Parts: sequence; structure tokens; C-alpha cells
Amino acid sequence: MKIHFHGAAGMVTGSCYRVEVGKTQFLVDCGMFQGNKTLKELNYGEFAFDPAAIDFVLVTHAHIDHTGLLPKLVKKGFRGKIYATPPTADLMGFMLPDSARIQESEVELKNKRNERKGRDPLEPIYTIEDAEATLPLIEGVGERLLLSDHVEVHFRNAGHVLGSSFLEVILRENGTSKKVVFSGDLGAKDRPIVEDPELVSETDYLLVESTYGNRLRTDEKKEDRLKQLGQIVSQALHRGGNLIIPAFAVERTQDLMHDLSILMDRGSIPRTEVVVDSPLAINAAKVFAKYPELYDDDATALMKKQGSIFEHPSIRYTVSAQDSMALNGKKGLIIMSASGMCDAGRIKHHLKHNLWRRDSTVLFVGYQAEGTLGRLLLDGTKTVRIHGEEVRVEAAIEELSGYSGHADQRGLLEWLDAIETVRGTVFVVHGEEEARTELARLIRERKGFQTVIPALGETFDLQANVAQAPTVPTPTVTPARDSFNLYAELTIRLAEFMRREKDEANRRQILEALLQKI
Ligand SMILES: [Zn+2]
Ligand SMILES: [Zn+2]
Repeated sequence: MKIHFHGAAGMVTGSCYRVEVGKTQFLVDCGMFQGNKTLKELNYGEFAFDPAAIDFVLVTHAHIDHTGLLPKLVKKGFRGKIYATPPTADLMGFMLPDSARIQESEVELKNKRNERKGRDPLEPIYTIEDAEATLPLIEGVGERLLLSDHVEVHFRNAGHVLGSSFLEVILRENGTSKKVVFSGDLGAKDRPIVEDPELVSETDYLLVESTYGNRLRTDEKKEDRLKQLGQIVSQALHRGGNLIIPAFAVERTQDLMHDLSILMDRGSIPRTEVVVDSPLAINAAKVFAKYPELYDDDATALMKKQGSIFEHPSIRYTVSAQDSMALNGKKGLIIMSASGMCDAGRIKHHLKHNLWRRDSTVLFVGYQAEGTLGRLLLDGTKTVRIHGEEVRVEAAIEELSGYSGHADQRGLLEWLDAIETVRGTVFVVHGEEEARTELARLIRERKGFQTVIPALGETFDLQANVAQAPTVPTPTVTPARDSFNLYAELTIRLAEFMRREKDEANRRQILEALLQKI
């Protein structure tokens, strides 16, 4: 009985745990690494295990950092079933092909550049065909599932996104059984649309996420959240330009549509054109509309009033690239677009067209991983590079933490407080280094549970309750700013320096010194 940590160990993204029990071998999640270039590199190359030897995959929720490498798994030989809740299965149905489209178009763009540079072409991590081949393997299942003599799983509501779950897994081997809880991503209480997370009372082992393990947020309650959103929207409209909201297409966009509808109907903000510029969000809204029984009381009330929570006279969707580009010269709009961390998709175009304008506002509503464009903007960077072009940041940058899909430190501790017994170990995963160290310390102090902070590639023997070092060499990753981030900053600073420094002798002296170093 072993568990191997293949992702979300030392970073937030790339969730993937492999469990061996008896003759069965399965994965919990198979997510994509996101963030800086060194992290993204981990998506290429071979898996640290044989995909053909995996019997099945259990998926906690539809986010790409938990599902995004499933098509690669299939490409490399996996033929088993992929089990998830019905909403998660529906969401994956369009998110995986979309992810493949992004991989293909990014590689196409890079290959054009590589060709000009005389370099060999790259291959996408996977193609639309691989994603299409993955879809028939996905099965939406009920709450409880008996998978083999060795494995039984219970999907329970994690309150993170529609259909999200944490898993209670029973492993049986040689007459003994162990319970392992995989927290997946845990939602905060009182979030829009979805119900609060369920609780666990006891377990042998627990893998707990720690995205906000070292952070407390203030605006958690619904009315505080609405008030703050209302203020930011009013200020942005007053400034005269557009309000750009980078948002995950699934859940975050629907949450904001839900809250903006409420604010407009109450008269707290003027009726303004809200454009959801994301084909993915339209598909997501359809899935949300299919499962009204999963809504909380507020969303149910809004649905009864409007007929649907996603149809409001002020909200419109753009599907085609032309419609999206037509937004470029406009003013006074609220534009929501993905990706949420600004590292891909249409949002990059909107940022390119709005960041340099003094009257624009950019509002961040979700977690921004280290090294992403979103994090650079939040950190106050004054010039950024988008599609190889330098863009000066003049727009107002705002942040609202009340829309985070993740419980903050207090929320995580409240969820953990409900657990009376952990007979074995708590593995603190899915967090950057400081976040998980801090959460692990708090768990030991408050609960007295044994904690382990697993490294990427590490294995843990559940029966012996001991860790084993990685058997395959694992790459060193820097979830924080990597050399590529520094390179981007250096090129921007150099260009600024050339504009600012008028003295030719000074310029030469500094540039020559730099050239000697490299
Ligand atoms: Zn998630
Ligand atoms: Zn996650």
C-alpha cells in the first residue's frame, strides 16, 4: 500500500497522486503544471510511471491543474476508466478539448518563431485528437463506488467549484484496510452558487491542500463581498475605461455573473454592459444550468426570479474571435475573460489593449501563481511583455479575495478542526513552500497530528507509515520566479535603461560590463 506524489508537491499545480494497493494501481487527478516556464516544462516528457499499468483515475474536480494531463495519459497508453461526479464529467467534456486547442495553438506560434530561428519544431503535449480519445473513458458516477476488491471511494462535496469533491478512499490489502482522504481543492464557506464543503470526522491518512495555508482573507461574507465588488465597479466606470476581469471560465465567471446581476438589480451599480468573452464560459454555464439541485439558497432564489442565473439583460457572450476583437476599441465595458492567471487565452489580448490606458481597471479575483503574468501585475510590475511586445502598465490594478475558490488559512483550519482522529499521517500538499510549511506547523500545534511535507517524486508506504526517497530522478523546480522570469525582466529593464540614460559613455560602460559577464 503505497502513495506516490507526482504533482502538487512543492507547488500548487500539477495535482497527481498514484496509489498502489494489492494488484490495483490508480491515480487521483492527473493535472497540468501551470506557472513559470520551469514548471510548465514538467508537462513535457515521460510520466514517472507506466500509464498503461494504471487501472483507473479518480478525479476530484474539473480544473485543468487537476485534469489537464489526462489526454497525455491516454496518448501514452492509459486505457482505463476516469471516474468523476456527473458535473465534473460534463465540464471535462469541453475543457479537455479546449486545453488541447491551447496546447496546439501555442506550439504552432512557437514553431513559427523556432523556424525563423532555425530551431527544431516542438510537439504539443497532446492534440485535440488525444483529448477526444479521452472523453469516452470518462464516467460520471454516483456518490459511492466499489472499484475492485481493494478500492472503494466516496465522492463528497468540497464546495470549491460545481461538482468538486474530496475523496474518502478505502484501501484493502491482506486483510487490513486503510482510509485515505484526498481533500482536492477545498472551498470557502458562503461562496456564490455552490454549497459549503462537507466534513470528515476520522481517517487513517489525509492529503490536504494548502494554497492559502499562510494567508487570511478579510472579505469572506457575502454582503462584504458584494459591497467591495460594487465599489470597484463604480470606481472603474467613473474612471471611464473598461473593467477587465481575468477569471477562470468555470465557476469564477459564473460567480461574478451571479453577483453582478444582484448588484445591478439592487441598483447598487449602474446597468452596464457585461461581456463574457469566453466560449468556455458559455459551455460551463450550460453545465451549471443542468444541476440546479446543487445550488445554495441564494442561487436558487436568483434562478427562481430570473429563470436562470446566467441570463441577465445586461450580460452578453462573445463567441467568435471577431466579436472578441471588436471589443478592443470600446470603453465603459466590464469584460470577463480567461485564463484566470493571464498566462493564456483571450485575456492576454484584452490586457494588451487596456493595460496601457490610464482609464482602465484590471480586477483580480483568483489565485495568481508565482511567475504568471497575473502575479507580475499584482506585484506592481510597471512594464510587462505580452505576445513578445512590451506593454506599459497604467491601468488601476485591483484585487478582491472574496471570490477565491479556496478556503483561506482560517477556513482550512476550521475544516481540519472537524477531524477528530488521524491515525497515520497528514500530507500537506497543493501549496507553495511557505504556505504548506505554515499549515503543517499549525496542524501539529492545534491537532497534534503527524505531518509530512512530501517532495515531488516521493513515495510513502502507508502500512509501514514511512517515507521513501524518489526512485526516479526528479527535476528541481522553482515555483517562484525562475530564470525565464528574470530574463524577461532584464530585457524590459534594458530597454527602459536605453530610453532613460542619455549619456552615451555611461550606456557603453554599463552594457560592456554586462556583456563581459555573459
Ligand atoms: Zn481547483
Ligand atoms: Zn487545484
